[in-house]
Amino acid sequence: AEAQLRQVQKMEAVGQLTGGIAHDFNNMLAVVVGGIDLALRRLNGPRREVMTHLTNAMEGATRAAALTRRLLSFARSEPLLPERLESGELLTGMTELLDRTLGERITIKTELAKGAWPVFVDPHQLENAILNLAVNARDAMDGTGTLLIRTRNLKVSANEVGDIRAGEYLVIDVIDTGCGMTAEVLDRAFEPFFTTKDVGKGTGLGLSQIFGFAHQSGGEAAIESTLGKGTTVSIYLPRTEVAGRSVRANPELQGKSEE
Ligand code: ADP
Repeated sequence: AEAQLRQVQKMEAVGQLTGGIAHDFNNMLAVVVGGIDLALRRLNGPRREVMTHLTNAMEGATRAAALTRRLLSFARSEPLLPERLESGELLTGMTELLDRTLGERITIKTELAKGAWPVFVDPHQLENAILNLAVNARDAMDGTGTLLIRTRNLKVSANEVGDIRAGEYLVIDVIDTGCGMTAEVLDRAFEPFFTTKDVGKGTGLGLSQIFGFAHQSGGEAAIESTLGKGTTVSIYLPRTEVAGRSVRANPELQGKSEE
């Protein structure tokens, strides 16, 4: 029964990963197609503008290539590589990509905690989680609004958030001023394949992948939403203590390769 359960968990992880990758790949293709489309429309315009659009498309394509490389390495069953990570650096490094992905009419703000606790996660997974949340926020805001990415250090007691263990967590909040969720959507949002979006627009895998990522990392994911006002998705990641040295925050990952 133990082995069976592990097998089911493994299948779930594979499903979440491949589904999540399809979702991410789609987002990156949208950047590529968008860039080329804009460049084509502006062919007779200023050369610098055309170059900017093509450069954006190129970057999207490069990211997509990196993603498929990761998928291939997963197929060869190389584990994800969690590492000790300063979220501030990662999030700051993403602002340009987010700016481009969300467009001019959405304002992006960040409030990064000073002395934010380091975490022990795969950086690509965290990056994809943030990108997915930003794209969801964009969809919910229908063009205009504000996206706030905030980090905070939080001491949590047992069962305060989901079935989280008592301890110290870095919390990443992704807050939008979008349409919000109905009670029914809020209830089902983390379910794999649950989507309210048109065919081809949503896979229903973004949030379930984030849920899986948070749990794999020994943390939790939670949503607060008010219809017509906006949504906050919070990712809780356990603090990793030892400076400069990799420490496993998640006992589940024990025994897998370390750099
Ligand atoms: P997808 O975005 O492909 O539909 P997700 O798992 O990311 O899949 O989201 C599931 C559903 O949750 C969405 O279809 C949408 O109805 C709702 N949702 C997700 N994020 C937000 C948000 N920021 N604001 C409002 N609704 C959201």
